[in-house]
Amino acid sequence: MTKPRNPKPQMAAKTPKAARPTATSGRSVGNPSVPGAVVNRRAVDRLRAGHLWVYASDVESITPPKLGETLLAVADNRGLFLGTALYSPSSQIALRLVSRDALDEAGWLGLLESRLRAAIARRKPMLDAANDACRLCFSEADELPGLVVDKYGDLVILQFLAKGLLDPGVAKTCVRVLRDELMLAAIMERSDPRIRELEGLPAPNLDPLWLADHARPTASAQFHLNGLVFHYDANAGQKTGAFLDQRTNYAAAREWVQKLGAAKSGVNSIRALDVFCYQGGFALHLSQVCSMVTGIDASRASLEVAERNLEANRSCITADVDWIEADAFEILRDWSQAPRSSGVSYDIIVLDPPAFAKTKRAVEGALRGYKELNLRALKMIRPGGLLVTCSCSHHVSWADLESAVASAAADASRRVRLLERRGAAPDHPVVLNLPETEYLKCLVLEVE
Ligand code: SAH
Repeated sequence: MTKPRNPKPQMAAKTPKAARPTATSGRSVGNPSVPGAVVNRRAVDRLRAGHLWVYASDVESITPPKLGETLLAVADNRGLFLGTALYSPSSQIALRLVSRDALDEAGWLGLLESRLRAAIARRKPMLDAANDACRLCFSEADELPGLVVDKYGDLVILQFLAKGLLDPGVAKTCVRVLRDELMLAAIMERSDPRIRELEGLPAPNLDPLWLADHARPTASAQFHLNGLVFHYDANAGQKTGAFLDQRTNYAAAREWVQKLGAAKSGVNSIRALDVFCYQGGFALHLSQVCSMVTGIDASRASLEVAERNLEANRSCITADVDWIEADAFEILRDWSQAPRSSGVSYDIIVLDPPAFAKTKRAVEGALRGYKELNLRALKMIRPGGLLVTCSCSHHVSWADLESAVASAAADASRRVRLLERRGAAPDHPVVLNLPETEYLKCLVLEVE
C-alpha cells in the first residue's frame, strides 16, 4: 500500500503570510504582552528529534493565548522560533506542536482539514465489507495531537482530548471532512472521560454532531471485523467502543488455532479461554475454529454485549461459548491450583488485560501482575498449545513483557517458543519519533 505523502510542506508554504508577525521570528516570544511560550533545552532537543510534546515542567515562561484562541508560538530561550502548538493549561503535556511554522487560527483549521483527509486516505485501503470499522485518525500518529476518530460501520465517534480542540471550528471542520470523505449515518462525540479529566476539560457534549436523518437519530451501529458482526452503542455508557487495535491479532489468533487444529487433526476438541474478553473480540474469532470457548471478564455490561455479538454471528460459529463474570486473577488462581486430574486445561489461552501501568512508576507492580497471569495461564495450557499474551501499556516494553513471561514459564516449568511478536493493527500506526504511539504488544507463543 502506498501511503499518501505528508501534506505538511504545502501547508507550511501557505501559512506564514497569515500568521502573526511575532510568531515567525519568535523574537517576541517571552514578551509578556504577546502570547507565546519559551521552553528549555530538554524540550528543544525533544522537538528537534521529531517529537510533538512539551511537558509543563519544560516550559520556562508562558503568555497564554487570547480569549477564544488556542495556539501559541513556541521558542527557545534565545528567541529561536520552534513552531506553533496547541496549549493545554491544565495538562502535564502543556504544548502539542501542530506545525514547525507560524500559524494563525485559520491556518490551523486548514491544516487540520488536510491532515484529517490524509489520515482517512491512509485508512481507506484497509476498509471493505468484512472490515468496516477502524481508527480513522490516531492523534499524534496522524499529526493531529489529541484527535481520535473511530469508524464503526456508518457511525463515526470523535474524541477531543486536548483543550485546543474544544474550539467549535475544530468539530465543524471534522464533520465537514468526514461527511465529504465517507457515507455515514451519524457523527458523535464520546471523549474518554479519564483523559478529559487529566486535561481539565468539561464532560463532552452527548448530542450528535451530525445526523443523516433527524427523524432517525442513530446512536448504535453494527460493524464488521474480519467478517464477524459486532455491536456498538454510543449511549451504552462504556468508555470505549471496540478495541479496534486488536483486529489483526484476532485474525492471527484464529489462524494459529487453525494451524494447531491441522497439526492435531482433532479440530473438534480444541478448547479456548479468552481472559479479559470484554465484548468477545478474541472469543468470537476463536469460536469459529474451536469446539469450546470461555470468555472471562469482570464487567457484566461487557459480557451482555459479548452475548449479543455471539447471537449475531451464530450462523458462522461452531463452538459452545460461555461467558463468566469474574475477577480474572481470582478465577485463574483457583483453576490453576486444581489438582491435575480434575484441573481445567485449554489448547489456547488469550490474556489481554487492561493497561496495568498507566505511568512509569507503576511498571514494577504491573510486571508482577503480568507474571502472575501468565504463570496461571501456562499451568493450564495443554502441551503443544498456544498462549496469546498482550500488554497495552506504553511503559511496559517488549523486553519487560517478554521477561515477565519467561520468568512465568520458568516457574511453571514450561518451555515457550515465540511464534510471533505482534503490535496494533495498522490503523493505529507507530511513529518512530513518537515512542508513545507504540503501546500494544501481543506475543504468540507455543507452549511445550
Ligand atoms: N480483549 C478485549 C479487550 C480487553 S480490555 C478485546 O479484544 O475486545 C480489558 C478488559 O478487562 C475490560 O473488559 C475490563 O472489564 C476487564 N477487566 C479489568 N479488570 C479485570 C479483572 N480484574 N478481572 C476480569 N476482567 C477485568
